[in-house]
Amino acid sequence: MKTTIVSSLVASAAAFAPASQTQSTSALMATTPAPFANEIGDDFVIDQTGRCICGAVEFHAKGKLAFSELCHCRACAWAASVTPVHVIGVEISELDYKTGKDKVVVVNGLGKMIHGRCSQCMTQVFQKPQGENYVALFPPTFRIGGDDSLEQKLPDYYLPRMHTNYENRARDATDSLPKFKTFPPDNEVNADGSLKNAE
Ligand SMILES: [Zn+2]
Ligand SMILES: [Zn+2]
Repeated sequence: MKTTIVSSLVASAAAFAPASQTQSTSALMATTPAPFANEIGDDFVIDQTGRCICGAVEFHAKGKLAFSELCHCRACAWAASVTPVHVIGVEISELDYKTGKDKVVVVNGLGKMIHGRCSQCMTQVFQKPQGENYVALFPPTFRIGGDDSLEQKLPDYYLPRMHTNYENRARDATDSLPKFKTFPPDNEVNADGSLKNAE
């Protein structure tokens, strides 16, 4: 079955269900779709290196892009101290370390979320909900223009496709990306948070 990039990303994004303040665990499990498969297409393969601030941890992610979204959930935002958080998902087996794997400390976040941080500089290298096969990476850690380069503009294929957990937003977004109250495909909302296509 041929799927569009966006719909695949939508399906994959739903799989990356963090501990939500508004959904029970059973509800989250019930909405978790099929495991990450090669639905994005071979054109969307990440081959990306990145590092923490101090350089003790260098990682390499090579594999299919599962999702790229701006997440407003409390688990993401609280841990990063910013909202929304641009998360880029890959299958966990696709995350490898060039150096410093033993320097990564995993700490508990909100609900099911866990965060992998450099134990020396505490840069957040990845996060994932416990039990999921996905990890979320963060573009600011990516080696884009060189470590000291001011040029950090992301290539188009990394750009976020949607807002998720928009109900937790700190402010309304002004872009034209699709916005979802929690996760797609249901409950798409307008920029002011009202349900789209409401009766
Ligand atoms: Zn570090
Ligand atoms: Zn989140």
